[in-house]
Amino acid sequence: MIPILINSIEEMSTICRQMIGKVGFVPTMGFLHQGHLSLVKEAKRISDVIIVSIFVNPTQFGANEDLSNYPRNIERDIKLLTELDVDYIFFPTNEQMYPNDFKTWVNVDKITQVLCGRSRPTHFRGVTTIVTKLMNIIEPDFMFMGEKDFQQLVVLRQMVKDLNFKTKIVGCSIKRERDGLALSSRNKYLTKIGREKALCLNKSLLLAQKLFNENIQSSDEIIAQMTDLIEDNEGVIDYIEAFDPNTLEHITNIVSGSRIALAIVIENTRLIDNIKIN
Ligand code: AMP
Repeated sequence: MIPILINSIEEMSTICRQMIGKVGFVPTMGFLHQGHLSLVKEAKRISDVIIVSIFVNPTQFGANEDLSNYPRNIERDIKLLTELDVDYIFFPTNEQMYPNDFKTWVNVDKITQVLCGRSRPTHFRGVTTIVTKLMNIIEPDFMFMGEKDFQQLVVLRQMVKDLNFKTKIVGCSIKRERDGLALSSRNKYLTKIGREKALCLNKSLLLAQKLFNENIQSSDEIIAQMTDLIEDNEGVIDYIEAFDPNTLEHITNIVSGSRIALAIVIENTRLIDNIKIN
């Protein structure tokens, strides 16, 4: 069945108010890949009605970032979502989401200033604001988000808790290409050589796990070796950090359950990835 396409906020709200059964919502910026589709599959498993939004949210991009080039292919997205029997695709316009008199922002403190927040200081404010708007329009029972954007997941969990949203966030594992590269819409920017180099993200995370298995627990020591591997592949490091998965606080001693995340620039494309150390 072809999903019902909706671009009016009013119409989406009205439909959602009349829905019967559990509503599962997957927010995306489109240009879908198997990572996004894994969220839809998880949504289908535990919800009765599936809504996927496609909106390239301008407020989460910094001034010098890739908003205007961000890859888009709505026809292909619709085809992929049709194959998964999604019920509704919500793709509002910028003008509706951010009318000229828009003035309100949702901001989560502290945990938005570390990791990706250091080099993207306004990014999470854009994410929390758009997700609040989408949750208010749709009022889903479940919202599905990838661990690929681990900090985003933690920030949104905090927001849902602090602001008493009724929606439950379901975190889903990172989907990768066969060679380990985490799926991302931004992989499209990479040349063949760049794509080869980009394997250093996952390889360095696996190296961290290997060092931990060999009883090395010092985050400095592990990160130093990861840094070498990434620099050997001409990756420019934005950050590599070991942190507590609940507080996002930096840790010096890695334990089972700690996360290591990184943001690396390859051929001008900023890529992120992370691992849970076991
Ligand atoms: P985006 O379209 O990049 O905003 O991503 C929409 C959702 O898909 C977010 O919750 C992401 O964390 C999730 N996502 C993106 N890439 C992956 C991946 N490789 N594996 C799992 N989830 C992903």
